[in-house]
Amino acid sequence: MQNFLLDLTSCMSVKNFPYEASPLRQGAMEKLRLALQEQQVVLDSAGIGIAFIKGRAVIRCNQRFAEIYGYAQMQDVLGKSSRSLYPDDEAFRALGEAAYSVMATGAPYKAEVRMRRCDGKLFWTHLTGKLVNPADTDQGSIWIVDDINEQKDAQDQLQSVLIEQGLILDNAMVGIVFLHDRKVTRCNSSFEKLFGYGPGELDGSSSRQWYLNDADWLEAGQRCYAPFAAGQAFEGEMLLCKKDGTAICCEVRAKTIDSHDLSQGSIWITMDITARKQAEKELLRAQSDLEKLVEIRTLELSHTVMKLERKAAEQKEAEAHIQRLAHFDSLTGLPNRILLNDRCQHALSVAQRAGQSVALMFLDLDHFKSVNDSLGHRVGDEVLVLLANRLRDVVREQDTVSRLGGDEFILLLPETDAAGAAHVAEKLLLTALIPFQIEQHELTVTPSIGIALYPRDGTDLDTLSKCADAAMYRAKADGRNNFRFFTTEIQAHSDRTLLLVNALRRALERGQLALHYQPQISLATGQTVGAEALLRWQHPELGNVSPAEFIPIAESSGLILPIGEWVIRTAVNQLATWVANGMAPITMAVNLSAVQFRHADLPQLVSDILEEAGLPADLLELELTEGVAMTDPLGAIAVMDDLRQRGVRMSIDDFGTGYSSLSYLKRFQVYKLKIDQSFVRDITEDPEDKAIVGAIISMATSLGMQTIAEGVESEGQLEFLRARGCTEVQGYYFSRPVPTAAFEDYIRQDAHRTV
Ligand code: C2E
Ligand code: MG
Ligand code: MG
Repeated sequence: MQNFLLDLTSCMSVKNFPYEASPLRQGAMEKLRLALQEQQVVLDSAGIGIAFIKGRAVIRCNQRFAEIYGYAQMQDVLGKSSRSLYPDDEAFRALGEAAYSVMATGAPYKAEVRMRRCDGKLFWTHLTGKLVNPADTDQGSIWIVDDINEQKDAQDQLQSVLIEQGLILDNAMVGIVFLHDRKVTRCNSSFEKLFGYGPGELDGSSSRQWYLNDADWLEAGQRCYAPFAAGQAFEGEMLLCKKDGTAICCEVRAKTIDSHDLSQGSIWITMDITARKQAEKELLRAQSDLEKLVEIRTLELSHTVMKLERKAAEQKEAEAHIQRLAHFDSLTGLPNRILLNDRCQHALSVAQRAGQSVALMFLDLDHFKSVNDSLGHRVGDEVLVLLANRLRDVVREQDTVSRLGGDEFILLLPETDAAGAAHVAEKLLLTALIPFQIEQHELTVTPSIGIALYPRDGTDLDTLSKCADAAMYRAKADGRNNFRFFTTEIQAHSDRTLLLVNALRRALERGQLALHYQPQISLATGQTVGAEALLRWQHPELGNVSPAEFIPIAESSGLILPIGEWVIRTAVNQLATWVANGMAPITMAVNLSAVQFRHADLPQLVSDILEEAGLPADLLELELTEGVAMTDPLGAIAVMDDLRQRGVRMSIDDFGTGYSSLSYLKRFQVYKLKIDQSFVRDITEDPEDKAIVGAIISMATSLGMQTIAEGVESEGQLEFLRARGCTEVQGYYFSRPVPTAAFEDYIRQDAHRTV
C-alpha cells in the first residue's frame, strides 16, 4: 500500500506538471491520460477512501472516499473544505498539528481519528497521511481513510465486555480460574483467597496444587473429560486442598471455553462448601436428633395417653363402683336401701296416680345365725348370694328385691294386691325349700315373710317397711317359715311395744321398778340357800307389766343396760344388807340378758358393784340363758372365765330349751344348770320329760355341776327331783317371787320348815 501510494503520489504530481503540446509530448500526454485513467480505476476499485488534499480542500478522491463521508458521488465531495470532514475546528486543528509534524519528516502519519460524515454523524477512521513533498507542504497531501467505525464499536464493546468480565471476576464471591493445559492462565482473587494464595501467586502454575494427591488430580481430569468432549459443563463436588494442606470441600462447575476446541482451555468456578456441608451434616444430625426426640416424645406421649386412658377407665370403673356401692349391696349385687327408697317413691307415685296397690315384703331367714355360727360366714354369705338369685328369679321384671343387710330382704312389688302378694310369698317360701349345695353341705333355709300393702297399711316406705317388719315378727312368732299380712292386731301389738318403750324409758327414774325374790331351796338340807332376783315393773296406768313382755322390749331398745345394772346393784346391796342384818349368807341369783352379757364392761361392773357393797363374789350367781350361751360359745366361754376368775358363780338358765353342745357345756365350767320349768311342769306324768330331766341331772353331776329345777309347784315334782338327785329347787311350791319384806319373813320361818 505504501508503494502504491508513492507511485500514486508521483503520478498525481506529474499530472499537475505544465506541458507543451508537441507530437512527442502528445504521445506522452496520451500515455499520461491512460495512466491517469488506469489510476482512477485503481482508485475507484480500492476498498479504502483515498483523497488528495491541497490548500485544505479535496482536490481529488475516489468513490469510496465519497461514500465514507456520506456523499453519493465523488463530485459531491470534490472542492469541499477538508475542515468539513472533521467534527469541529478543534479536532481539525489538533489533527493538523499532530499530522504535519510527523509528515514533515517525510514519514506517513497514522492515527485513529473521529471524523464527520456529511449528515453530521461522527465515525471512527483509520487515517494515513503523507505529504506529496515533505519539503513543501503546499504541494498537498494524500490521505487514505479506512472506515473503522464498526470495528471500533466492536472493539469498544469488547473492551466493556472485558471490563465487565474483569469486574465480575474480581468481585465474584466464587473462585474462578481459567486453565489452559491444566495450568492457570488467569484467576480471580476469590480463587486465590479460597486456596490461601497471594495475588498472582497462582498464575502459570499447575492445577495439581489444589488437589490432595495425584490420584485425585488425575481422576478430576477424567471426570470432566466426557462432559467437556460432549460440549457440556462438568458439575460436581470435590475434596480439594488449600496451600497450607487443609482439605476443603468444593462445589465445582467447569466448562471448556470453546467446546469444539478443547485446547482453548477451560474455566472453573469453584465454591467452598465446607461450611455448607458441615451445616448440612449438622442439619442432618439435628434432624435425626429431632426425629429421635420426636420418636421418644411420641412414645412418651402415647404412654401418657395410655396412662390417661387407663386412669380414665379406672376412674370410670371407680365411679361405677362407687355408684354400685352407693346403690347396690356388695355381697349379693341386689339394690340397697337407698335404691329401694328411690324405686319405692317412684312406684308409690305411679300407684297413687293409677289408683293401684303396691306390696312391700319384709323377708327374714329363720335361724340364719346358726348357719353362720356353725358353718362360718363364708358359707353363710354363699347362702345369701344363692338365695338372692332365687328371689330375683321368682319376682317379675318390674319388682325390686333389695337387701338391707344380714339376712333381711325387702321386696317391692308394684301393681300388686293382697292376693298377688300372697301368691308371690308362697312361691318365695317354696323356692327357699330347695336345698343349697355349698361345698359338702346341703342346706335348707326357711324365710319368714311380713307383707304390708299400699295404700291400706301406709303411704310411704318408712311406714310400710315398719308394718311389713311387724308382720314378719308375727310370722316368726307363729312358727316361722310362713308369711303374715300386717293386721290391726299386729298394729295394736306394735302400738303397745311403742307405748312400753316410751314408758320404760322413765321407769327407772320414776321408781317404778322393783325386785322380787324367790327362794332357792337345797334338797339336801331343806334350807333356803339362795334367792333369784326377778324384776317387777309397776306402772301407774299400765299396772304390773310382765318381765316376759318388757324384758325383750328393754333388750331391743338398749334400755336393758341401765336397767340391768340397776338390778345387779339392787340385788347385791339387798343381800349385803341382809347379811349385815344377821341373815345367814345365801346366794343371790341375778338374770343377765344377752345384751348385758356381751357388753365388754360387764365383768368389771360386777366386780365394782360387789366391792362397793362389800359382798363376797361367790355369793353372786349370774344366770345366763342357754340360748345366749350357745349363740357365741367361744365368746361366752371367755366372759364366763373372766367372771369366774373374779369369784362370781355362773349358771345356765332355762337349760334344755337350747341346743347345748356337750363339749361347750364342759368348757363353760358353770356352777349350776337350771332345768327349765317346761320340763318340770309335767314331770310326774310325761315319761319323756322324766327322761330328759333325769339325763340333765346325771350329766350335770358327772360334769361336777349343781342342778336346780325351776317351776316346782307340787310335792310330786319335788319327790321326783329329789329321787333323781337334783341339788336345789325353786317354785311356787315354796314361794312365789315376793318383795323384800315378804322374803325376809320367809327366811325367818325357814328354820321351822322341813322339806
Ligand atoms: P326366769 O329367769 O326363768 O325366771 C323364772 C320365771 O319363772 C319367773 O317369771 C318366775 O316368776 C317364774 N316362776 C317361778 N316359779 C314358778 C312356778 O312354780 N310356776 C310358774 N308357772 N312360774 C314360776 P317372771 O318373774 O315372770 O320372769 C320371767 C322371765 O323374765 C325370767 O325367766 C327371766 O328370763 C326374765 N327376767 C326377770 N327378771 C329379770 C331381770 O332382772 N333381768 C333379766 N334379764 N331378765 C329377767
Ligand atoms: Mg332366771
Ligand atoms: Mg328360767
